[in-house]
Amino acid sequence: MTTIANLKAVLGSFFHTPTYGAFELLEHALVELDDAGTICRITRAGDADFEQRVAAARAAGAAEPGAYLELGANEVALPGFVDLHVHAPQWPQAGVALDEPLNVWLDERTFPLEARFADAEFAYAVGHDLARTFLSRGTTTVLYFASAHLDGSFAVSRACADAGQRAIVGKVVMDDPAANHDFYRDATPDQALADTETFLDRVAALDAARRADDPRFAGAFGAVTPRFIPSCTDEALAGLGEIARTRDAYIQSHCNEGEWEHSVAIERFGKTDAEALASFGLLGPKSIMAHCTFMSEGDTRLFAETGTVVAHCPISNAYFANSACPVRRMHEAGVHIGLGTDISGGFSPSMYDNIRQAVMASRMLEEGVDALVDATRRGAGYPARISAPEALYLATKGGAEALGLPTGSFEVGRAFDAQIIDTRRAFADLTGFGIFNEPADRLARILYLATPDNIRQVWCQGKLVIERA
Ligand SMILES: [Zn+2]
Repeated sequence: MTTIANLKAVLGSFFHTPTYGAFELLEHALVELDDAGTICRITRAGDADFEQRVAAARAAGAAEPGAYLELGANEVALPGFVDLHVHAPQWPQAGVALDEPLNVWLDERTFPLEARFADAEFAYAVGHDLARTFLSRGTTTVLYFASAHLDGSFAVSRACADAGQRAIVGKVVMDDPAANHDFYRDATPDQALADTETFLDRVAALDAARRADDPRFAGAFGAVTPRFIPSCTDEALAGLGEIARTRDAYIQSHCNEGEWEHSVAIERFGKTDAEALASFGLLGPKSIMAHCTFMSEGDTRLFAETGTVVAHCPISNAYFANSACPVRRMHEAGVHIGLGTDISGGFSPSMYDNIRQAVMASRMLEEGVDALVDATRRGAGYPARISAPEALYLATKGGAEALGLPTGSFEVGRAFDAQIIDTRRAFADLTGFGIFNEPADRLARILYLATPDNIRQVWCQGKLVIERA
């Protein structure tokens, strides 16, 4: 695909959440980019040199088409989203069989589908379609589980790089013959560890080659990826912890997802899932754990102390987690949290849908859901609700901070990852008849009502990767 990559300045209005708990509107601001697609200067209307810098940016745009972008009166920019939990091979079954219990859904649907990534061409096709779909919904950075196959997993990394998306991908390890089907698992623990190292080397080489070619390459990273404790031998878990430590690599897995996963670790190790992961060296500031609904107070402390990140997957949790995630309680305890779609335990590739569900699930957790239970005992018994701007933070800067990547907000030093929202799209008008013009109301209308049609353009690392007619 062609990408426009000489953008130097954008004039318009920008919503973002530089800190948790509040949003900021940069109204009529000039955002300037360096050669690497990183924001190098922000000038706001009213600043002494504003008019002069805008004039210079316009002149540069006249001399070099594509260097200057001016948003329309009904347009506003939001940061590109960061999705912290996705299973790339499950994309073809998004929305399918969600009425099944987790073990049936995995054994009868998911594992046979993931096994098809033995065909690397198929893996590339699915990965590329998924990356483009995410980009079209405004998601510019994604942390992916690929499959248990070395070549199929690497095909996902290539597909994301070709689509212009910043991607962290893991070759999944699931080596325990007693816990996995023979048609879909690592042959041995040694093979699983060797393939993980080869995979990390290949992704690092891909990243280096693309960066050498393109100063605005958004980045390809590898992650050590034990599927979850129930599918791995002790030997593989310990080996993966060691690989992550020696390479300072990202780690991703599932932790305390539901009643079943929670109970497996306790029966096998006499410890919680979180404690067991820690004992294998799998928790730390570059560890991202999906779900984390069944967190004891000790588990939450362990996450805060080690800097481990929670990938909150609110839609998926409604189907498979047997509970709602106490996001606010964990945030207040000092745990880093971002948002994930969990394709395809979660059906929607849209972070907007997940922002909405994160807010709704938090309110149901706080107030309870069964009217036959007395109101004093119905809810969680502690403040649990989060606001839409707080959920936006999780979906943008929260996820970026969790990954240690400079994106997720419009600040100097951050990559220019942006979605340009057209608030006056036919059949998707977000302007509210001009009645609700306060910034908080304008942002609320976007977060709750935006459709993919409203996303006119998507930029990743200063490159145009999606443009709707
Ligand atoms: Zn998952």
